[in-house]
Amino acid sequence: MGLFDRFFAKSATTVLHITSPNGFHLRPAAVFSTEAKKFAASIEAETRGQSVDAKNLNALLSLNLEKGDHFDLVCKGRNAQEALEALTAVFEKLMQEDKAVEQIDKTAQRYEGEALEGEIIGQGIAIAPLWQYSERHYKVESDTDFHAALESVNTALAAEYEANKTQPESAIFLAQRSLLETLSQKAQTLEAFEAAVNDATATLEGGAMAAKITDYRDLLGRVKSAMGYKTEVAWPATPFVLLADDLLPSQVEQLPQTLEGVVLQKSSLTSHTAILLRAAGIPSLIVRDTVDTTGKPVILDGFASVLVVNPTPHDLETAKRLLTQSQNQKEAQHARRFDTATTTSGTEIKVLANVTDPASARAAKEAGAEGIGLLRTEFLFQERRPSLQEQTEAYKAIFSLFDEITVRTLDVGGDKALPYIDLPKEPNPFLGIRGVRLFESHPDLIAEQLKAIFTAAAGKPLKVMFPMVDSVETFTKAKAFAKAVAAKENLDISAVAFGMMVEVPSVLFLLPEFNEVVDFYSIGTNDLNQYLYAIERTHPTLSLDPRSEALFRAIEKVASEAKKPVSICGELAGDGEATARLIEAGITTLSVSPGLVAQTKERIRHV
Ligand code: PEP
Ligand code: MG
Repeated sequence: MGLFDRFFAKSATTVLHITSPNGFHLRPAAVFSTEAKKFAASIEAETRGQSVDAKNLNALLSLNLEKGDHFDLVCKGRNAQEALEALTAVFEKLMQEDKAVEQIDKTAQRYEGEALEGEIIGQGIAIAPLWQYSERHYKVESDTDFHAALESVNTALAAEYEANKTQPESAIFLAQRSLLETLSQKAQTLEAFEAAVNDATATLEGGAMAAKITDYRDLLGRVKSAMGYKTEVAWPATPFVLLADDLLPSQVEQLPQTLEGVVLQKSSLTSHTAILLRAAGIPSLIVRDTVDTTGKPVILDGFASVLVVNPTPHDLETAKRLLTQSQNQKEAQHARRFDTATTTSGTEIKVLANVTDPASARAAKEAGAEGIGLLRTEFLFQERRPSLQEQTEAYKAIFSLFDEITVRTLDVGGDKALPYIDLPKEPNPFLGIRGVRLFESHPDLIAEQLKAIFTAAAGKPLKVMFPMVDSVETFTKAKAFAKAVAAKENLDISAVAFGMMVEVPSVLFLLPEFNEVVDFYSIGTNDLNQYLYAIERTHPTLSLDPRSEALFRAIEKVASEAKKPVSICGELAGDGEATARLIEAGITTLSVSPGLVAQTKERIRHV
């Protein structure tokens, strides 16, 4: 059909078949009717003698279309043919993808073989022979003495923190560095260091902090390795499920390609090893019962939380089916990463990303983020103070990628240092010169940053937020400072909105006053949680519940009292276990690390 005919075609019809086992339910129907609204043509869905407007979601749902049903799609008027083709393509895609995102049955599977109950570290299915961990120790010549070894471990941990800093698990490396510092103050020789580690682990054994034992052992292993005391593991060359008492956090990064899953017998769900296994997406369980069937195939079902030690052929078939289903689900999540995320009751939740530089912003775009909810600017220029031009170019590169951007002014201090900013040595840096307090202590630095940000935005809409705001006066002063910079430099900031992080608990009690002055709020759950419980977020031995009740209630309070838009940009935003409660509280914007965007969207679609 030629261009002219396509434009003027009066009517076009096709038959669409429901192939998804879930039927033409809310989510695909919502996407379909949204697409339909983009066309001027009238678009109707007709079935069983009933005809409804396909642009109207409720009308479309009233057709109750189940798998096996079909309906006529009838487009009439301007661009009817074009609408028909586009909607047919959208419909086919929706049907295909909806098949794959069927939820995996997470309740106990019925296995015939002996199934040992466990606790889930990382979800997933693994089918392979069980292999018992074993290691060999040996010594190589080394010139590295104890103090040099401490230094090299410290440097390696700093580098690992740097490499992972956009991920929540990066705090592990900070915590280990701080443990190392404490231990090295006590010990001047390897023997004394080993004795200090043994003392510390003996105290922790069986207690609430037992999860930290692997961190102590890891540090000892790292120091010894730097001094030539090596440990070798002969990993199997064919697929296997690992059985071990526990693993060291540093070993998780070195696990071989042939590893399918991990069963630990003496670990805990909050250990750093467990956090890293989960972050690496490795199916893994803690199983405390004795397991003596090494060498034989097992099923590790990280959904039903069981290790099937003697699977029957039927069990193996079931597990293979679940494995395919879970792989399909991951692929479907990835395929749907650019689609909007709508809950089952039809609320659209915006999923933005937390980024630190142009590379992570590009990664966020590719991961399906709808914008940037938090640009952490302090990580942009780690090594040296950047020139105004360097800053401006970096911001421009990031701003050009998305329409929605929230940039945070420097949040140095606490756990975030910059070598070229001289902050006073404080006994409690988390309670000292941090975040927006730099406006007073380092006005030139902040003025230069604001100038670079405003120049890069070049009059386009942008959200600028201040970290660690603790009073209305702090906010109004910071905003006045920013406006003065713009006025002095003659920069247009008419499209800039000014907001704040909610991360200092005082803010929770001042919301009516803040409502009068801010344009938006972004809840920083990492800091808010640490300040609510008075536990440093990087503390080596005290642990902070990332899903603490006080944190949820604080969020609920903000969501109900705020009169301006609220989003969440702390780690809780990307925590799948928290999604439903955050949405129930009324939160409609989540900003998560780029690696969690697709997963978070899928989670939302099931709320
Ligand atoms: C937070 O505190 O939750 C937050 C998002 O900011 P940061 O982790 O950079 O302090
Ligand atoms: Mg913070």
